[in-house]
Amino acid sequence: MTEFELIRTFFARQPVSRADVAAGIGDDAALLRPPAGQLLAVTSDLLVSGVHFLPDVEPRSLGHKALAVNLSDLAAMGAEPAWFLLNLTMPEADARWLERFCEGMFDLARAYNVQLVGGDTSRGPLAIGIEAHGFVPEAAALRRSDAKIGDRIYVTGTLGDAAVALQHRLGKQRLSEDDFAAVAERLDRPTPRVREGLSLRGLAHSAIDISDGLLADLGHILELSRVGARIFLDKIPLSPVCQAHVGKSGWEAPLAMGDDYELCFTVPPKNIGALEKLQFTCGFHCIGEIEAEPGLRIVDESGRLYDPLFTGHDHFAGK
Ligand code: ADP
Ligand code: MG
Repeated sequence: MTEFELIRTFFARQPVSRADVAAGIGDDAALLRPPAGQLLAVTSDLLVSGVHFLPDVEPRSLGHKALAVNLSDLAAMGAEPAWFLLNLTMPEADARWLERFCEGMFDLARAYNVQLVGGDTSRGPLAIGIEAHGFVPEAAALRRSDAKIGDRIYVTGTLGDAAVALQHRLGKQRLSEDDFAAVAERLDRPTPRVREGLSLRGLAHSAIDISDGLLADLGHILELSRVGARIFLDKIPLSPVCQAHVGKSGWEAPLAMGDDYELCFTVPPKNIGALEKLQFTCGFHCIGEIEAEPGLRIVDESGRLYDPLFTGHDHFAGK
């Protein structure tokens, strides 16, 4: 298969066709029409075989996840996703693999009405880079730097499920078949919290998506907002499977292993009434509060300060 055939077969035919795309795949560059008066939110994420995913991962899951992690970044800005580009290197053009990869990616693209408008393709070790674009009115953007003292800290969904599923898949911890089935989707096919991010416009002061673990990602908000915080372990939302895991193995999975793709956001007390009227299918929970004193204080179930021996995922730490 030639490169051109590959692009035509797998990427040019896709389910989404948006009116704001003047030229998509096929020319030297895409021509796009952002809505007047809004900021363009741009993000990219790189997934490398053996680093971000196991080489034998199911290609449908990989296609889903490669796009999902980018939509999650847009969600964390309060942006509405619109377009994406796909940069792909792979050792050979494996049609069966590409078909399933595209199925996973385009099913998610359809669900969020995002159109693939370009990219690049080359032979090389398997790696996937997606760049996603969205829109947000300037005043509505949810920045990491705008948390204020007194804000309540919330997270969507539950934390730690993807990490627990990964521990099982790597053979580091055994789950029953039912328990693994209950968390595997969270690892393989995370749901980007796009609708939630949009409904937090005008309510939240700041937001981030949890990719490297709650402690590390909340830490970014604290640092950039020049504030501190106190969070309570018994308020961190856990699925039953993760709860059992924490009982046996401690708090590292929900606090530091990451891959959650939930939103962590801060809301001033005056907006809590409006927030509580929102219905998120994934739910959301208050886990603590922003304080003036720098640093993050974690309070355990008995009211004592808890000192984690781990912080979060960092590709270059300790090497
Ligand atoms: P150029 O040599 O000008 O970079 P290419 O031959 O690489 O052009 O690509 C031709 C067209 O196909 C361009 O519109 C490009 O954006 C698109 N394209 C290439 N690879 C991909 C991909 N993996 N996904 C989506 N579009 C792609
Ligand atoms: Mg090219």
